Amino acid sequence: MKFAEFAERAAEIEAEPADLETIALVAALLEDAGEDIGPLVRFVQGRVFPAHDGTKLDIGPSLCYAALAKSAGPNVSATDVESRLADVGEIGAVAEQLDLGGQRGLSDFANGTDPLTVSDVEESLTELAAADGPGSTDAKLDILFGLLNRAEPLEAKFLSRLVLGEMRTGVGERTVRDGIAEAFDLPVDAVERALQLSNDCGLVARTARDDGEPGLERIRLEIGRPVQSMLAQAGTAVEALDAWDEAVVETKYDGARVQVHYDGTSVRLFSRNLEDVTDALPDVVEQVTERLDSPAIVDGEVVAVDENGSPLPFQQVLRRFRRKHDVAAARASVTVELYAFDCLHVDGEDLLDAPLEERHRRLESVLEDGVADLERTSAVERIAELERAALEASHEGIMLKNPDSVYAPGDRGQNWLKRKPDVETLDLVVTGAEWGEGRRANQFGTFLLAARRGNEYATIGKVATGITDEQLAELHERLEPLVRSEDGTVVDLAPETVFEVGYEEIQRSPTYSSGYALRFPRFVAVREEKSPADADSLERVERLATDQ
Ligand code: AMP
Repeated sequence: MKFAEFAERAAEIEAEPADLETIALVAALLEDAGEDIGPLVRFVQGRVFPAHDGTKLDIGPSLCYAALAKSAGPNVSATDVESRLADVGEIGAVAEQLDLGGQRGLSDFANGTDPLTVSDVEESLTELAAADGPGSTDAKLDILFGLLNRAEPLEAKFLSRLVLGEMRTGVGERTVRDGIAEAFDLPVDAVERALQLSNDCGLVARTARDDGEPGLERIRLEIGRPVQSMLAQAGTAVEALDAWDEAVVETKYDGARVQVHYDGTSVRLFSRNLEDVTDALPDVVEQVTERLDSPAIVDGEVVAVDENGSPLPFQQVLRRFRRKHDVAAARASVTVELYAFDCLHVDGEDLLDAPLEERHRRLESVLEDGVADLERTSAVERIAELERAALEASHEGIMLKNPDSVYAPGDRGQNWLKRKPDVETLDLVVTGAEWGEGRRANQFGTFLLAARRGNEYATIGKVATGITDEQLAELHERLEPLVRSEDGTVVDLAPETVFEVGYEEIQRSPTYSSGYALRFPRFVAVREEKSPADADSLERVERLATDQ
């Protein structure tokens, strides 16, 4: 396809406000694409290379302005381009208005003067991306100049946008998915699946057209071709248990995400942005080669550790990730460990659709060491305990995962939750207590909490979680002298002690006299320095409740 035709169609797509019509235009483009279906389905999204391919053009705005100025002739400088941009607001419009091609005579013979085709653009940009080392900026500038110099105004508009990755056509991954399905009359699910597994819309569009649904079904994960990582939302233990009854709890490691591809002999490592970071992490490569028994794709986190193996802050791992020079020196100064927590593929078998715990079992069966622990629980107290243990061990916190969930590449869904730390704690007055049960029957086990309302106290919840045996004994000793009356297992206490309490949420509730209740209150500490007059007021509780 001529690049001019692509530009016309891109302009039509840009002008179309309705989603369904946009999908239809993308579908028509793909139907007419011929041999260029791969680059076209990428270009229309502002992408030059497949998503799994970490190749970058590395064209900054200033290089693009310089190339535009050079093609516009001696009277236009890069500064002129920039000031026009300030007026017009968008590089495509600037490029369209410039009278390019004034330098056509200067264009290198090999660039030719024939109309640009989509494959010319793809070839030149591939060559441009490969330019490396000293002189590479000049080489990139020359190649871009060569293209722009042959471009008509509308072509220049979309070429400039393409190299800067801002097509403004409103076409994203979903439109492409729906466009492929519509063009070749295939189920959206089948297209979506193939896109997830290959991370290559060009391959999927071509396969959809040439081999239909059976072809799409043959697209599988491939070792060496990274997929999007599954992502997490912020959430609470209550949300997790409300939704799934039981949650898998894992440590949240404070490092950098890595996708490990091992083909049985060699290892490649990809970052969350699918960049190849293998060369920066030779020690992880060694760990994986030693520990992995079979070809596999493994998901995990690389964490910097001290000499005892304790995690170091996340900034340390950044000193290692993506490093291109002095790798050996960096390795000597920062030690890293891989914590693997998921497994997408083992020995020819894709595991994305297997439930989480089964994937974890498979991971343990192929990886000897460095597999993250997980625990399945339905108890919010246990989740709090695991979180405390993770924080004490200097990790970032915990992840809560749906035990039945599949691995959904690129999905930031409800199945993985990163536990939100309590944003606020409350300082509340202890106005009552309940005797414990079983081996704790001889001391208080639950404490009634109240917020200040003027000179009175309005109850808001009970806390029994987050208190060690030792602390329980101390609290009993401290509070027993304050007992004013006793009714069965419940005692009324003189309001003298202030607890700092964490919680997940404040709810309206008729149970307590304040009209509010804390969801999952957790003892943090006794506020020794605070008297009840310094405790939090009901107004603050109300404010927090409305803000959350
Ligand atoms: P965030 O970057 O805050 O959105 O948190 C999600 C990130 O936590 C993931 O992309 C991983 O890099 C990281 N992470 C650490 N431990 C885990 C784990 N056990 N499971 C999933 N992601 C984890």
